[in-house]
Amino acid sequence: MSGLIYLHISQLLTGLMLAVIFGLVWKTIDRKQYILFWAFSFLVLTLGGVLNGLKPFFPSRDLYWIIVNALSLIAQGLGLAGFRVRAGRKAFPNALLIYLLAIELVLIWFTIVMPHAGLKMVLIPFSGAIMALVGCKVIMSKTSPLHAAEWGVISVYVIFSIAQFTAGTFAFMQGVEADPYYNELYRQTNFIAMPALFTGLGLFTVLIVTDDLSTRMKKLAITDQLTGVLNRRGFEDAAIRAKAMADRKQTPTTVVVADIDFFKKINDNFGHRFGDKAIKAFTKKLEETIRDTDIIGRVGGEEFVILMQDTDLDDCTEVTERLRAEVDALNVTSGKKAINLTASFGIAMFNRDETLEQAVHNADQALYKAKDNGRNRVEVYLA
Ligand code: GH3
Ligand code: MG
Ligand code: MG
Repeated sequence: MSGLIYLHISQLLTGLMLAVIFGLVWKTIDRKQYILFWAFSFLVLTLGGVLNGLKPFFPSRDLYWIIVNALSLIAQGLGLAGFRVRAGRKAFPNALLIYLLAIELVLIWFTIVMPHAGLKMVLIPFSGAIMALVGCKVIMSKTSPLHAAEWGVISVYVIFSIAQFTAGTFAFMQGVEADPYYNELYRQTNFIAMPALFTGLGLFTVLIVTDDLSTRMKKLAITDQLTGVLNRRGFEDAAIRAKAMADRKQTPTTVVVADIDFFKKINDNFGHRFGDKAIKAFTKKLEETIRDTDIIGRVGGEEFVILMQDTDLDDCTEVTERLRAEVDALNVTSGKKAINLTASFGIAMFNRDETLEQAVHNADQALYKAKDNGRNRVEVYLA
């Protein structure tokens, strides 16, 4: 047996294992659709490898060529679709489908209608290289910094592209008639690094899956389930970081504590579900009214804290007064039930040498005053 046969078998087994691994990852770690796309991508590649071994049993070599390359294209498409879905895009946009179909049709053309050894062999490696580079672009399209696993996939894809472009070029150099010398060069460049690249791609992609899961879990741990804003822990982390930055830049920071008025009555009169709805509507209003740089956290049942960066007491009072008016104008309805929500607010300066706890405590004092003075009010803590 020639060395290439061993490479083929090794690639086939690697592909099969990766298909199974992705299936298991999907089943046991994270049921995300894009993981299934990757599982099927490797499965289809494996199927292509199996057909490769069955080549002598095909009625014609042309038919074998057309089918085996169609499988390669499908595998390329599924791999890219996985990264697209992960990036929140449509798996198979029309452009991608048309592209895949066009490549296959051109391939059929140069296989049967106008046989051309170089052209019929260059298409799949070149397409593979292009798809890998498009995959890199999709991975890099995310706004937050790339993680190590993503750089890993990008590196593998770039090496893969170089190998495929090189292999394709050798294939193309055959010209119209098959040329054993260039054909051999094509086969060697095409297959020599493939099992390693497959393995690398598989491992980095699995790493991406676990990394995604860990990122989601971390986010979940600091997010309030009902409203989607930060929970107490998340708020404290973000607020402390923001304050450290503000101190370095010597800009003022203020905190606001907000509490819905007579919320117990809302729960008692309309039910807990309606109460939840009111909390959500209240949060939405807060989020709409404050600025992007303000940090908001749900720190109790119907109690929220907002940290306002680069904001002094006067500005904070103005914003909070607007917030109060917006909430006052807010009607929460559910069927025939409707209530007019109000909330009270306490404001305090977050001074340079204070802890977050102290600042929030001070704002709380102001909140008590707002409640005492009749609610639906804004009060400022004055040291
Ligand atoms: P005040 O104007 O003095 O703030 O009166 P209040 O009734 O709003 O004050 P209090 O803090 O005593 O009541 C808060 C209530 O919020 C008590 C609790 O049952 C309810 N609550 C806490 N968390 C939730 C929640 O997630 N959903 C709902 N529906 N109710 C909640
Ligand atoms: Mg309340
Ligand atoms: Mg309360």
